[in-house]
Formats: sequence, C-alpha cells, structure tokens
Amino acid sequence: MATNTEKMIPYCMSRLSAAGYKATAARKIVLQALCELPGHCTSADVLNKVNQMGSDIGRASVFRILELFSKLSIIRPTYVNGSTPEYVLLPKNGHHAHIVCPKCNKVTELKICPFEPQLEQIAAQHEVQLTGHILELFGYCAACSPAG
Ligand SMILES: [Zn+2]
Ligand SMILES: [Zn+2]
Ligand SMILES: [Zn+2]
Repeated sequence: MATNTEKMIPYCMSRLSAAGYKATAARKIVLQALCELPGHCTSADVLNKVNQMGSDIGRASVFRILELFSKLSIIRPTYVNGSTPEYVLLPKNGHHAHIVCPKCNKVTELKICPFEPQLEQIAAQHEVQLTGHILELFGYCAACSPAG
C-alpha cells in the first residue's frame, strides 16, 4: 500500500487546495489512514486507524473531514451494508467498481473497468475533466442464485 499512499496523498492534497481548502495536518492524517486501509472502510475504521497512527484528532473532526472528502469526490460513500456508509477512495482518474449481491451483500471488487474505452469520449461529450468514477453492479452470487 506504500506506493499507493505516496501517490495518493500529494494528489488528494492538490485536489483540496484546488477547491480552496488548506492541507491541514488533520486532513492529511485522515487521508493517510484512508490510503492504508484496504478497500471499503467505515468512518469507525478510519477513526480507529487514525488513533492507531498516534493522532488525537477527535471523532467529530474525522467525520467532518470524511464529509469534505466525499463532497470533493476524493472518496465516495457506498451503502452496501445497510445504512452505515462504507467509503472508497478514488485514485487519480481512477475508478472503483464492484458487484454487490442483493441478497447476502457479498461484494466482489472488479479490477477491470467497463467504462475505460469510452471515458475520453464521455469527458469530451460533456465537456468535463473526469477525476474518477464509482460503479456498482448488482447480481446474485453463486450461493444466492435463485434455483432454475
Ligand atoms: Zn468496492
Ligand atoms: Zn449472495
Ligand atoms: Zn471504471
């Protein structure tokens, strides 16, 4: 995860400053925690990680920073397991894609991107500079597959 962290932190900090937000020590440590946590993580996971890292940032600050990062699409919440959002970090021009089983909530992460061939075209068509995307597919896993 180290290389990911090395690339992600400067990138996300530049996204913050581009949006007019200062790269405070608290924002940096929350970002570092997000980079080091594998895959999906809840705000409680982030808070635990931040504490493990020896930081004394409080719960309210961590929550506020997660909200800010979500607003800027540096992370996005997904609602795989009920009402507690699980956050995913969006790498530079990157994507996050998974399949969720609507019955057991099993999540299968996808390495490939079905959008990849069309991304440039979509960006040009809508006159936007894409920074990332998240894609959720829904489908019954083998164990939950309705018989017949
Ligand atoms: Zn995922
Ligand atoms: Zn299932
Ligand atoms: Zn993708």
